[in-house]
Amino acid sequence: MAVDRADATAFVALGANLGDAAQALRDALTALGGTQGIRLVRSSSLYRTAPIQSTGPDYVNAVAEVSTTLTAPALLDALQAIENGAGRERPYRNAPRTLDMDLLLFGGARIESPRLTVPHPRMAQRAFVLVPLAEIAPALVSKEQLAAVVDQAIEKI
Ligand code: ATP
Ligand code: CA
Ligand code: CA
Repeated sequence: MAVDRADATAFVALGANLGDAAQALRDALTALGGTQGIRLVRSSSLYRTAPIQSTGPDYVNAVAEVSTTLTAPALLDALQAIENGAGRERPYRNAPRTLDMDLLLFGGARIESPRLTVPHPRMAQRAFVLVPLAEIAPALVSKEQLAAVVDQAIEKI
């Protein structure tokens, strides 16, 4: 008899700053919830942020909570498939992008493999991750963490 894998709660960061970035995020959220083995539980507001260590137009960012029967690597595969469907290219590090989807948290898992580090190693430095994450999962973000990124401009769209 097949044993069902227990659902894991995961958080995904979305960002885009090329083309119609807000629409790209809405489409990505729809694609995420429409993927086999992934249920979209909730998503944050969309936020506008200035590029950090990067160039180009402002970013649109959001964070989504999903419930998934996938493993973390399979969830990353799904995120990268959605990115590719949105025309994501990687000409150089921190290049402007049509869509970026990062796996922030996967249950309480700590993962360090060549293609996947969880929790996402740079999430605590980024207002564009912490502010939308705090909107949908306030228990996961402390006042101290938010205070540490308060100098980074971010506004709800
Ligand atoms: P950053 O990771 O600093 O946000 P980025 O999102 O621009 O940078 P990408 O070019 O999108 O970087 O991804 C580079 C690689 O990071 C991916 O090929 C993927 O294998 C790896 N990676 C490691 N951990 C994660 C994670 N938690 N979520 C998404 N990708 C990850
Ligand atoms: Ca990223
Ligand atoms: Ca990424």
